[in-house]
Amino acid sequence: MPEQLPGSGPSVAPEGSGLPGQPVAPAPAPVPAAAPAAPATPPADALRPGTRGSDVKALQRKLRVRGIKVPVDGNYGARTRAGVRILQRKLKMKATGIADAALLAKLGLKIRAVASDPATLAAPTPATARYLKVFPVVGEYSYSDDFGDPRGQGAHQGNDIIGTIGMQLVSCVDGTISRLTREETGLGGIWIWIVDGRGNEYYYAHMASISPELKAGSKVTAGQFVGTMGMTGDARGTIPHLHFEIRPNGGGSINPFTELRAVDPKRK
Ligand SMILES: [Zn+2]
Repeated sequence: MPEQLPGSGPSVAPEGSGLPGQPVAPAPAPVPAAAPAAPATPPADALRPGTRGSDVKALQRKLRVRGIKVPVDGNYGARTRAGVRILQRKLKMKATGIADAALLAKLGLKIRAVASDPATLAAPTPATARYLKVFPVVGEYSYSDDFGDPRGQGAHQGNDIIGTIGMQLVSCVDGTISRLTREETGLGGIWIWIVDGRGNEYYYAHMASISPELKAGSKVTAGQFVGTMGMTGDARGTIPHLHFEIRPNGGGSINPFTELRAVDPKRK
């Protein structure tokens, strides 16, 4: 998947969007290092990135009581791995990021059961959504935690929800269409911004079309049809997807992944 269309030259920010680091094609999902030959139940002598469950939660609590800020969500993701590394350095152990038997012993932790599923690697335990009321795409989609991934214009500012051209997009909140463009722009292509009653902003990019009744200032309710999925802007020639962002109070983007998971009707 090319980062940019061949011959398209350096991309420029879409006028009026003010957004750096706009979406490019979603990268293929990374293959977890331990995935190919991993047994269904890994040897229970260590906790590793990608592991989920109560043992991971116990580890996270141990990290937190030592002043290392990690989420206590039972998901051994990047932050937990970083936290384990910090602890290993503190303890003058090799900073592998894997909570091996030696580290677990020092923490007084015993592993009860290890559930590791490469398919859900880095997928946090769904929590209650703080921002979203409704998942923004209807139909057969897929997405991953690709926030912050390196892209042609810098770190990826949202999550890409992959589907097919024409798939229905719906408002994720009760709010107002603050801005939109039906004319294709450089990076985001055809896009809308929705602002909710608390001033939080939501960005939908690469759309194929916008619902004809909508204009700047239109009120929308959660679940209301707002347009269709496409691959406009710098997504042209890649694969159809919705580039989706959440910007609390109109500020910097946050990783929308846990929010999407929390309202995803298909989540397992
Ligand atoms: Zn994107």
